[in-house]
Amino acid sequence: MNESIQREGIGMTSLRTRRRLVDRLRLDGIQSETVLAAIQNTPRHLFIDQALAHKAYEDTALPIGQNQTISQPFVVALMTELLMQSSIPMNKVLEVGTGCGYQTAILSQLVKWVFTIERIGSLQQQARERLPGLGYRNISYLNGDGFEGWSSNQPFDGILVAAAPKEVPQTLLEQLAVGGRMVIPVGDGARQDLRIVTRTEGGFSEEIRNGVRFVPMLNGHKI
Ligand code: SAH
Repeated sequence: MNESIQREGIGMTSLRTRRRLVDRLRLDGIQSETVLAAIQNTPRHLFIDQALAHKAYEDTALPIGQNQTISQPFVVALMTELLMQSSIPMNKVLEVGTGCGYQTAILSQLVKWVFTIERIGSLQQQARERLPGLGYRNISYLNGDGFEGWSSNQPFDGILVAAAPKEVPQTLLEQLAVGGRMVIPVGDGARQDLRIVTRTEGGFSEEIRNGVRFVPMLNGHKI
């Protein structure tokens, strides 16, 4: 199959199928048309195993190997929308949990530069090889532990965390710019709360949203 047909998709991966997903996300409450356009333009079927491609535009999480999952499109859209509602421009955004790079691709279309950290080297390697070929180039990669953030590139205007810690990591709070926001699932059960933390002149303000389901954020990293 030639590259552009592969990217545009056919049948269950076609533009029509993707539009159906976007319509559903809109009905489920996603309001940002720029976020919805990014979802529509991103070939999610190329981020997962070919055997699962026919499910790529269903609103579900799917396995990506190493016991990890590609996040559910609704959750990607919601977290991105919440991040973009910040009062400052999103020039530098830190993503924790690159996984297959799908959320990274969405962010790269909406912000100036994405810094993405993944603790499992082999997963990140795949994303690193895949994303530039699809045209997503404003991205720096680190195989490391998201609990430590990325101090040499701080402060970040936005931080999006795709794995759930038990508490908001202090180091990440410290790496947030004043006016910036972090969107992060927090909790240790099967379901967690989504927290939206904004850094103010004097401290932090926090909002809590409905339950979400993420893999746990784990300490340390492996190549
Ligand atoms: N955004 C990804 C979702 C991946 S699932 C996607 O769209 O595919 C969450 C990812 O977070 C997993 O790949 C997991 O390995 C990673 N992760 C968990 N704890 C981490 C940590 N401390 N630092 C960096 N990545 C971590």
